[in-house]
Amino acid sequence: MSTFKAPKGTYDLIPPVSVKYLAVREAISAPLRNSGYGYIETPGFEDVGLFARGVGESTDIVSKEMYAFETKGGDQLALRPEGTASVLRAALEASLHKQGNLPVKLWYSGSYYRYERPQKGRYRHFSQVGAEAIGAEDPALDAELIILADQAYRSLGLRNFRILLNSLGDKECRPVYREALQNFLRGLDLDAETIRRAEINPLRVLDDKRVDVQKQLVGAPMLRDYLCDACKAYHEEVRALITAAGVAFEDDEKLVRGLDYYTRTTFEFVHDGLGSQSAVGGGGRYDGLSEMIGGPALPSVGWALGVDRTVLALEAEGVELDIPAATSVFAVALGDEARRVLFGKVTELRRAGIAADFSYGGKGLKGAMKDANRSGARFAVVAGERDLAEGVVQLKDMEAGEQTPVALADLVEVVKTRLA
Ligand code: AMP
Repeated sequence: MSTFKAPKGTYDLIPPVSVKYLAVREAISAPLRNSGYGYIETPGFEDVGLFARGVGESTDIVSKEMYAFETKGGDQLALRPEGTASVLRAALEASLHKQGNLPVKLWYSGSYYRYERPQKGRYRHFSQVGAEAIGAEDPALDAELIILADQAYRSLGLRNFRILLNSLGDKECRPVYREALQNFLRGLDLDAETIRRAEINPLRVLDDKRVDVQKQLVGAPMLRDYLCDACKAYHEEVRALITAAGVAFEDDEKLVRGLDYYTRTTFEFVHDGLGSQSAVGGGGRYDGLSEMIGGPALPSVGWALGVDRTVLALEAEGVELDIPAATSVFAVALGDEARRVLFGKVTELRRAGIAADFSYGGKGLKGAMKDANRSGARFAVVAGERDLAEGVVQLKDMEAGEQTPVALADLVEVVKTRLA
């Protein structure tokens, strides 16, 4: 193993590809920032109990995949495996919910950690952009979040994604269904771990990917038939609002997702070009989570979209993001005096808001022009002793290939005009 290898299941974001990740984060957050969501940042680790209580002891995320550790001071912490529990914890700590401004709408962007079996699209360190609308039970809020995620993906140019939608019921109807499902599952021929799961969280057995399990699940009671009138009405309203917005979705009554806190609306964004790790994002309503972590009743809804998988989805669709070149002007100085003068001009250009870079390392004209090319700059500014003696620099248009002398004193204005 090379000493320079990133830990298993992780990878580095490096230029030129890293710019795509920035663009994806920007594109996902833009509709949120435009819709009343405020930015929140929470620590990369939390008290382990927050996730155990919030995400759920029986979930793979908590029972198998969490990076939990004891600090030197004896605190039991865990690297965050997801964002919702932390954001809700922070909102409660800051009493954002008491200021009469519900729903509290927040968005975040960050790194998350799960000790998973690494494969394409599944990493131990990954990044998400997420949104939470805390403290209101309103189908328009569920619809808003789904519509904004759709808008974000479309703004990136993604087309081959689908939205799967389901309702998981609430504390009235889900327990009745849960028991009916459990009774059904008890009659099946399942392995010990699945039997255990059926007792703790039977809905997740429906999500089992194994063919032999799926075969036995034919005829299982479906939640749809157990939803109470309030949940049915709520779900119909969410569906109607999304439909009216022109956002297509598919009803998927088997969609349960891997976190225990969801109630009513749940949804997932899947991309058909990603193979087995097809979920690019997901979310739903979590009306009971606040109480599960010791807070007051705060019905809420949110989602998290995976940045890594969104980048993979863009690649799968062959979408090239329209990312402007980072550098507009590249300065090439020949000789010490020219270096000093042009370095000063680069600083001036930058202060005028023009992206500029400089040929460092004492390269000759040929090497420096190669750097200018590589930078993607629209203009190269070249100057030697003779140009300076005449009070000019050579402004080379890298697209047109033509070169014109420009008075040193006019350079910033000329570049500004020609870039505009
Ligand atoms: P979840 O919190 O499991 O609903 O995940 C939400 C989104 O985060 C998923 O749809 C993925 O895009 C992304 N995600 C979750 N786990 C991973 C992982 N191990 N590696 C990469 N992306 C992930």
